[in-house]
This record gives sequence, structure tokens and C-alpha cells, in this order.
Amino acid sequence: MVAKCVSQTTSFALQFVVMKSTRCRISLPFIPRCNFSVRLTLLTLATLGAVTIATPAQETSRKTEQKPATAFQFSTLPALSLGLYDGEMTFRELLKHGDFGIGTFDALDGELIISKGKAWRVSADGKVFAVENKATTPFSVVTYFKPEQTQKVGQPLDYAALQRCIQPMLPTSNVAYAIEISGTFSRIKVRSVPKQSKPYRPLAEVVKTQSVFEWKNVRGTLVGFRFPAYLSGVNLADTHFHFISDDKKQGGHLMDCELQNGQISVQTLRGFEMQLPTAGGSFDSANLATDQSADLKAAEHGDGK
Ligand SMILES: [Zn+2]
Repeated sequence: MVAKCVSQTTSFALQFVVMKSTRCRISLPFIPRCNFSVRLTLLTLATLGAVTIATPAQETSRKTEQKPATAFQFSTLPALSLGLYDGEMTFRELLKHGDFGIGTFDALDGELIISKGKAWRVSADGKVFAVENKATTPFSVVTYFKPEQTQKVGQPLDYAALQRCIQPMLPTSNVAYAIEISGTFSRIKVRSVPKQSKPYRPLAEVVKTQSVFEWKNVRGTLVGFRFPAYLSGVNLADTHFHFISDDKKQGGHLMDCELQNGQISVQTLRGFEMQLPTAGGSFDSANLATDQSADLKAAEHGDGK
């Protein structure tokens, strides 16, 4: 137990040093052109650690140290599946970790979509609200979305065909991907969940009372992720999308769709960070040793079966 705590602390400290060095880097060839007092100041600051003067060898090693595109997750999906709906992280804090993501709200009060840095809540009556910074989440996953590949879609694709179209853009099943699909949906079916009160019921029970909405010819964006199978203990080992319309009047957890035309953008995520709820709460006493994957798939596929 002690060894684990030490290891975590070291890991966070190293990440901080790498980020700080990247931000403050000044290259060595710049120095000879400075006058003596500027050079002295730079060298003094470097000695104090306020700036970092990089040698070519350090530059090479930093390339390998640079933080990869990272998924940041608060709590775990199996914990949510068990009914741990107390929001513990504010959106002020969550949005420091990404501008793109999905999740839910305190007391499971709707579906979360974060797109282009803005967070939206779709309530069980289908209305869409901008999320206040002070609102809290019991489970969310976000990233800073910078897609490395984009593909146009010029012909209608139902959800199964869309999944087949995405597949070659996700070349390995061993890393996570952030996926954005935007365009005109000739048909889309989403759900949202009603706000819960204590004692909380498991997610698979709650989705039996979910609200389902279907629309035709709506422009909007699907925001989602696919996590590898080995992360099924903390997230869903499958694609998982939430939808928001361009006019921010419709949205929810995706159940089915047909994309008329649009584009698919994908970002590979080789970093994964997870923050767990505070000590002494329901998370610590929950039985997370049991396999939640069957209940989770039923809940996330939206049929509660
Ligand atoms: Zn969802």
C-alpha cells in the first residue's frame, strides 16, 4: 500500500516537471547573441530552475518524454453502474483536463456532452442546458481533441455501416481513441436518464425508466471514445457516443443513427489518467471487485437488457 502511494506521487511530480520544462524552454544558440547581463540572467534563472536551457541530447530525450494525447477520467464506469451517482468533481476542474468528452451529472441528472470546450447537459425531458462550472460529475471522460485523421462521408450510412467505416481509422484495438462524427443525421435515436434520489438504484435499473428521443434530418456532432478491452474494468470496451445538435436544442446518449453525410475525425490516445473520488465516501466502500461488464453493456446499449 505504501509503495503504491510513493509510486503515484513520483509519477505526478515527473509529469509536472516535464510540462514545466516544455513551457519554459529556451534554446542554447540564442545565448551568444545576448549581451553579458542578459546571458548572466538567463544562466542564473537556469541555475534556479526558472528556465531550462536545453542541450541537443536533452532535446532528444524530451521528445520521448512529451506527454501523449491523454484521456482523463473521473471515477470509473463500473462504479457508476453500481449506483455511485454523487457528483464529486466540478466542471471547473474537469474542463481543465479537456475540451471534448462525455459523462453524467450529480444524481445522474442527464447526459453530458463536451464539444469545443463547452459542456452541455441533456435532461430526461430532452432539453439541453449549458453546464455551470459549479455543477459536479460522478463520472466523466475528457481529452483535448486534436484529430490526426479525418474522413469525409458522402453517402448515407446506418449505424452498423458507420461502425464499419470507422474501424480502419482505429488500427489497433490496444489503445484508446477519441472519435468525433459531425454532419447531417437523416435519423438519430438517443436517450437521457432521469435524476435519481437516494438510495440510488444501479444504472441497469435506471435505464429501464430512460427517455428515448428520435429525430429526422438534424445537424450535429457525436462525441465519443473507444477504449481497449483491457480497460473494461474502468470504462466501456466499446464505442460510446453522446450527441449534441448544432443548434444545441437536441442531444443525448446515442442508441442508433443514420449519417446522411459529414465527416469522421479520430485522435489516438496513448495516455490515460484517472482520478478517483475522495477518501471515505461511497466509492471506498463499494464492491468494485465484481465484474460489471454485462450490466454495463446493457446499460450503455440503452435497452437495460
Ligand atoms: Zn453514455
